[in-house]
Amino acid sequence: MSSLSAHASGDPAAPSFFGLGRAALAERFLERGEPAYRAGQLFSWVYRKRQRGADGMTDLPGALRRDLSRYCDLALPPVASLHASPDGRTHKFVLELSDGARVECVAMRTPRRLTFCISSQVGCALKCSFCATGLMGLRRNLRPEEIVAQVVIMGDHTAWSDERFNLVFMGMGEPLANYRAVVDAIRILHDARGLNLGARRLTVSTSGLAPQIRQLAEEDLAVGLALSLHATTDALRDELVPVNRRWPLDVVLAAARDYGRRSGRRVTLEYTLLAGVNDRPEDAERLGAIARDLPSKVNLIPYNPVPGLPYLRPSPEAVEAFALSLYPRAPAVMVRQTLGGEIWAACGQLGGLSAGA
Ligand code: SAH
Ligand code: SF4
Repeated sequence: MSSLSAHASGDPAAPSFFGLGRAALAERFLERGEPAYRAGQLFSWVYRKRQRGADGMTDLPGALRRDLSRYCDLALPPVASLHASPDGRTHKFVLELSDGARVECVAMRTPRRLTFCISSQVGCALKCSFCATGLMGLRRNLRPEEIVAQVVIMGDHTAWSDERFNLVFMGMGEPLANYRAVVDAIRILHDARGLNLGARRLTVSTSGLAPQIRQLAEEDLAVGLALSLHATTDALRDELVPVNRRWPLDVVLAAARDYGRRSGRRVTLEYTLLAGVNDRPEDAERLGAIARDLPSKVNLIPYNPVPGLPYLRPSPEAVEAFALSLYPRAPAVMVRQTLGGEIWAACGQLGGLSAGA
C-alpha cells in the first residue's frame, strides 16, 4: 500500500467508510464492543449531514469520536484538478486515487436537474472504436469506495440541497465489467439511512455484456439500464463495439428486453451518431424497428470528436433529419444535449487527455 493511502489521522488498516455497507459497518462496531446502531448514526452524519470528520459528530461518545479511525477511514480521494465549462454548468473532477491512478467524473446542471456522471474503471478494455476511454485500455477496476466517493465529492462541491440528483454510470469504464463493485456501490448509495438514492434516478450504461445484464436483473435493484447500441447490424456493430462479436445483437437485445420486463422500466438505447457511418435513412428505419420491438426509448448522442480517431459529428441538420425520421417509428426519442465539450468532459471523452500520462 502506498503512503498516499494512509489518512493523516487514520489507521491505514481500517477499511474506507465509503466502501462499507451499513451492515458491514455495524459488524465492525459490534466486533469492537460498540452497539450496531452506531453504523446508522455514522451513515446519517456522513451521507445526510455531510460531516467529513469525526469531530462534529456530536451524538457519538467522545472516546469513539477520537478513535473512529480504528473502525473506518473517512478520507476521500483528493481532487487533483477541477475544470468548469465557461457557462459554469458542467464541472469535471479528476480524482487522485491511493495508487496514483486518476479517475474522472462530471457534474452537469440543466435547468431541470443535476446529473452526476461517474466512472467504474480506470480506462476500459472494450475498445469501442470511437471512444477516448477505450484508447487507454484497462488500467484497473474501481473499488466500491472509489465509486461512492465520486458521488460524495461532487455532492459536496455542488452543495445539493434536497439530495435530488440523477446518477449515471457513463463515465470511464464498462460498469458491468466491474460488476461486483458497481452493485456494492449501488447498494450503499441506495441505503435509506445514507444518500437514499432511488433506483429511478440511477442508470447503468453498458456496451452489452449480456450475461451481466441478466445477472443485474436478478438483483432486484430496478435501476435504469442503457444499452449502447450504436449500430443496427452485426456487421457494423462488430466494428464499432467489438464486444458485439461475443454477444451479438439478438443476444444482447433479448437480455435487454428481459431486463425491461423484470425491472418494469423501459430500457434506453444509446445511439451515438457518427457522420456517414450509422446516420443513414436505413439505419433510422432499423433502429426504429428495434426500439419499438424492445420496447425502449432512444437517446441520440451527436458524436463528440476524439483527436486521432477518424469519426465526425454529423451536422445539426443531419442529426435533426435522423431524429425526425425516427419519431414516427420509435416510442420515444431524445437527442442528448452535448454539455461540457469545452472541458473535455462530454460522453466518451473522459480519459482522453490523461491517456498518455
Ligand atoms: N462503458 C459504458 C458507459 C460509458 S460511455 C458504455 O459503453 O455504455 C457512455 C456512452 O457514451 C456510451 O453509449 C458510449 O458508447 C458513448 N460514447 C463513447 N464515446 C463517445 C463519443 N466520443 N461521443 C459520443 N458518445 C460516446
Ligand atoms: Fe468502454 Fe464504454 Fe468506451 Fe466502449 S464506449 S470503450 S465500453 S467506456
